[in-house]
Amino acid sequence: MQSNAYDVVVVGGGMVGAALALALKTQAQLSVALIEQDPGSEHWPNTDLAAYPTRVSAISRASENLLKNLGVWSWLLEQQQLYPFVGMQVCDADMTGEVHFDAMDIDEPNLGHLVANQAIQMALWHGLRQHGITVMSGQTITALSVDTEWAEVGFANHAPLNAKLVVGADGAFSKVRQLAGIGLDQHDYQQIALVGCVQTQADHQQTCWQRYTPTGPFAFLPMAPKISSIAWYMPADQQAWAMSLSKDAFHQQLYQASAGHLGEIVDSWERASFQLSRRHAQAYVKPRVALVGDSAHTINPQAGQGVNLGLLDVASLVDVIIQAQIALDDPMIFDPGCFSLLRQYERWRRGDNALMQRAMEVFDWGLGQQAGLLNQVRPELMKLANIAQPVKNKLMREALYGRQPFPRLTQH
Ligand SMILES: Cc1cc2nc3c(=O)[nH]c(=O)nc-3n(C[C@H](O)[C@H](O)[C@H](O)COP(=O)(O)OP(=O)(O)OC[C@H]3O[C@@H](n4cnc5c(N)ncnc54)[C@H](O)[C@@H]3O)c2cc1C
Repeated sequence: MQSNAYDVVVVGGGMVGAALALALKTQAQLSVALIEQDPGSEHWPNTDLAAYPTRVSAISRASENLLKNLGVWSWLLEQQQLYPFVGMQVCDADMTGEVHFDAMDIDEPNLGHLVANQAIQMALWHGLRQHGITVMSGQTITALSVDTEWAEVGFANHAPLNAKLVVGADGAFSKVRQLAGIGLDQHDYQQIALVGCVQTQADHQQTCWQRYTPTGPFAFLPMAPKISSIAWYMPADQQAWAMSLSKDAFHQQLYQASAGHLGEIVDSWERASFQLSRRHAQAYVKPRVALVGDSAHTINPQAGQGVNLGLLDVASLVDVIIQAQIALDDPMIFDPGCFSLLRQYERWRRGDNALMQRAMEVFDWGLGQQAGLLNQVRPELMKLANIAQPVKNKLMREALYGRQPFPRLTQH
């Protein structure tokens, strides 16, 4: 192999890219280089994790199992970064219709964990360092070319790298996607989500709670006792207003949006807000190029599935690579950038991700309608849904494990 050459170059060291780099090295024994544009990543993992994180994710069992198989779940446990939730309650604006989901109904200890994004990323970077994976911090790619044998990745101030496969894990505005000439289907929801941690008067009882208000959903996501992460959705033109509210006015607004579900808002910490769009890459692969995570798809975050889908991409791509390795007797001729192999990954994931994107929109539309026939019959429909136990059990299992076939790395 040439110097400066790797089996795989992963661009983007967020939760998805870091998980992929670690999985390719530890599970498929491939040589990997990870490129992360944030110069601060030179010092990661710092263990200076925020006490009240702004961004958190609801992590499914499939993602938990992947992180366990990569040896990083125990780091999150040691750092006391895992907040299990045992129930989920969804209600409409006037709370006449409600659906409850309970982990006990499907004999599971919980329905997932709330974990700070930063904590997951640092846990994975701890793994990258432990396994000596090559990391290029503060670098962003400027060029990408592909021939029959190799892909070449160019930089503004660094010698190019060669790889059999280049993976774009560089988020929603992926440079790899652009340089590979892969088109994007996009729909702007004209909505934002405001997130942050709050302290409430009443405890959340380890239950996620989501109310569909006339301007969008409002959610409490349970963390420490009486501490929740909130997700408050609203029309995009209210972003500046919501971000500039004084603390007292903010607490008052949250009290109204939550209809006082957890009593008064006692305190709050740093807020952030995000414009929401559905994006779907028109292809996930090209010869010697693949996309994973937000570079391939973004989804309405209401059901907390974005990073879980990205980690399913990781587990599926690694599964396809390992199966191809097993099928070949001679590791010297194994080529992870082979197009037919990459197409297997695309066929596995693209349809499932599209289905999840659309399902979220139907769900949002159904619960968000504030007028018309659906609005009138919704409370009764929700009561029916609440007693349709087999349907609820199926939904809970799919949210926890994804849809079959399950990639091996998501089993434990
Ligand atoms: C409000 C909100 C709430 C959410 N809640 C949930 C939830 O509860 N559960 C869930 O599963 N998902 C949730 N999501 C979605 C989840 O946050 C994303 O799906 C996830 O962060 C995507 O991870 P990623 O690693 O693919 O991309 P990113 O997190 O965007 O990481 C990309 C990385 O690539 C680096 N990078 C970018 N460009 C370059 C370049 N040119 N060169 C080198 N490096 C580059 C970036 O610095 C970054 O480190 C939510 C999203 C939002 C907006």
